[in-house]
Amino acid sequence: MVKEYLTIKENLDIIKERINESCKKSKREDKVILLGATKMNSADKINYAIGEGLEYIGENKVQELLEKYDQIDKDRVTIHFIGHLQSNKVKYIIDKVDMIQSLDSISLAKEIDKQAKKHGLVMKVLVEINAGMEESKSGVAPEEVENFVKEVSCFENIQVMGLMAIPPIMTSEEEQRKIFKEIYKIFVDISSKSIHNIDMRYLSLGMSDDYPIAVEEGANIVRVGSALFGTRNHKK
Ligand SMILES: *Cc1c(COP(=O)(O)O)cnc(C)c1O
Repeated sequence: MVKEYLTIKENLDIIKERINESCKKSKREDKVILLGATKMNSADKINYAIGEGLEYIGENKVQELLEKYDQIDKDRVTIHFIGHLQSNKVKYIIDKVDMIQSLDSISLAKEIDKQAKKHGLVMKVLVEINAGMEESKSGVAPEEVENFVKEVSCFENIQVMGLMAIPPIMTSEEEQRKIFKEIYKIFVDISSKSIHNIDMRYLSLGMSDDYPIAVEEGANIVRVGSALFGTRNHKK
């Protein structure tokens, strides 16, 4: 157990270092947010990482978030929701997360807006873009993102803060970069339009296998799970 925890600290240092290297390589000086993707890891383990300086975490299942929520050291961490979200579950998390990274439909936006209004808050969201165009995946098609963002800008209790993507894992670094570049271009295009009520500040890209490349290509949030907490044990 103790050994496992020490590894988390080592991993955290390594990941931060690699993010810094990527920033230097691409001559960036803005801050990159390291978000720990916490699925299948215990609140204990998560709190240990928080104690070692992890400032952001993301859960991708409502049920799992609710199970751990009371135990998590919330004073020291910012919680995002990063997984596919069903409209009927928005009510359970609306007052528990700082941002929903996975807005992918207008019906979901409607429900987030409604629940946020109820709680007297404005929910920050990222629009999930379906990069790589996999039919089975959720997310807004790249050519529809701009109109989607404009539509969402009309909801008073939602603030669009940028884009998120879960691109397919490519066989080569070159292909991976190409997809990241395409997403970054869409991000910059929409930012340049200065749409009312839209603050295109965050681009959430990159996971354990590709976060250094994502940072080089413009991501300023990376969602890292297994490289931080260790390989997930699916049999549990
Ligand atoms: C699990 C997960 C990640 C992190 O995946 P790893 O490959 O373990 O780093 C990132 N984003 C989402 C939405 C996830 O569900």
